[in-house]
Amino acid sequence: MKKTVLRKYANLIAKCGVNVQKGQEVFIVAGLDQPEFVKMVAEECYKLGAKRVVIDWSYAPMQKVHMRYASVKTLGTYTDYQIARFEHYLKTIPCRIFIDSDDPDGLRGINQNKMLRVQQKLYPQSKPYTDALENKYQWCIAAVPGEAWAKKLFPKLSKHQATEKLWEAILSTSRVDDDPVAAWEKHNADLKARCDRLNSLGIKELHYTSSNGTDFTVGMIPEAEFKGGGDTSLQGIFFNPNIPSEECFISPMRGKAEGRVVATMPLSREGQLIENFWIRFEGGKAVEWHAEKNEQLLTNIITADEGAAFLGECALVPYDSPIRQSGLLFYNTLFDENAACHLALGMGFADTIRGFEEKSLEECRAMGVNDSMVHVDFMIGSADLSIDAITNSGETVPIFRNGTWAFS
Ligand code: ZN
Repeated sequence: MKKTVLRKYANLIAKCGVNVQKGQEVFIVAGLDQPEFVKMVAEECYKLGAKRVVIDWSYAPMQKVHMRYASVKTLGTYTDYQIARFEHYLKTIPCRIFIDSDDPDGLRGINQNKMLRVQQKLYPQSKPYTDALENKYQWCIAAVPGEAWAKKLFPKLSKHQATEKLWEAILSTSRVDDDPVAAWEKHNADLKARCDRLNSLGIKELHYTSSNGTDFTVGMIPEAEFKGGGDTSLQGIFFNPNIPSEECFISPMRGKAEGRVVATMPLSREGQLIENFWIRFEGGKAVEWHAEKNEQLLTNIITADEGAAFLGECALVPYDSPIRQSGLLFYNTLFDENAACHLALGMGFADTIRGFEEKSLEECRAMGVNDSMVHVDFMIGSADLSIDAITNSGETVPIFRNGTWAFS
């Protein structure tokens, strides 16, 4: 891909993505296979006034080595210097950038149960810090094609051709055109108008139906609002957490979900695909589920902790979104979740509560925002999906018809 185009993309991530402020620190998490692009992003951050840019390189084969040889106790304990880093984050509130180039199969063969036990041990140790940082900092996830990831999408092409093709798909769906910053401003305005309309209705619950067997009702938190596109941190800085992003999303009411949802896309998880699955909810909780392929992985997600069986997100995405139109399964949630309406099991977003700035995390959770160590999106949008809103005044308002918005 041309350097000039990549430079625009790197600038988009630094400027629109995290919106680096003068004197702010930046932490970048990136794969070891992307030195050139990560260097560009770091440069763009410095040009915007970043004080310090720190890179955390990741390498899936190394993760597998650790998981194989080190004990659960060792892997599940943060060292003093890792704790010191959390404390540094709390003190300095840096921007965080995640550059995802991961091979979707990179962790294949890893001991799933051991990894889950490690995560379950680490989570309570990092939770005080992540809770204290919630919504305070700007962050952004964006993607760069790793060779293995590109070959997974385009197995018949050479590594080089496959990478170019995935670059094209990433850049076009991320609106990296002549003036990506302007394109994102317009896109954000469109998403905001949709959210404003949804928020004006006083939605009590959403009812989803589709010929594939989805027949599902989910309740809303009275104080919650649909959000989409850019976000504002508690520090008052506007940023775009996901590049790309096509969704209007909300945290539903914990405990209010009934019926069956049928997944319409496979869920890529730890190098494997959970395929053709459905989940049935009762009293807000997943009580029954089945997957034709990799059901155990789905069970691991739903039973990861107490909150994992409850929903944390309802997102509305038209079936004709640019990502859907690309016709690709990206094997990556950042893209695939923007191809169709989805739900997420696990952690909800406290910042969907109106006036969350003046509330504590505990208050938001008491209103019905779910808490869990996992947040796993799965797609339920289809070409014939209908969604109706039942409003507080008892009206039924069409929200989706034939997989897309029922209002313009
Ligand atoms: Zn989402």
